[in-house]
Amino acid sequence: MSRLLFWIALAILVVAAVRSKLRQAAKRHQQMSQPMNGPDAHEQLRPQPARAAAKAEAETMLCCAHCGVYFPASENVPAGGRDYCSAAHSQLAPQ
Ligand SMILES: [Zn+2]
Repeated sequence: MSRLLFWIALAILVVAAVRSKLRQAAKRHQQMSQPMNGPDAHEQLRPQPARAAAKAEAETMLCCAHCGVYFPASENVPAGGRDYCSAAHSQLAPQ
């Protein structure tokens, strides 16, 4: 009998824990989707600019045909169907 009570108590604890987790997740989701005001709004928004910056920094990288260095695609110097990191390397033979 005490065993049965133990399992019932355990089940209630598990359900309570899952419910509180779900409530926390729902609250967090609500705060993310709503425009925030108040003193702690700034605190919660702080990680977002860093994330946005990281996204903006993510750029396709290319490998220089001469020196093998990886560089951003925006700095690419294409020559003869190959990609180079600089104009100087585009004039040198690929290695
Ligand atoms: Zn190079």
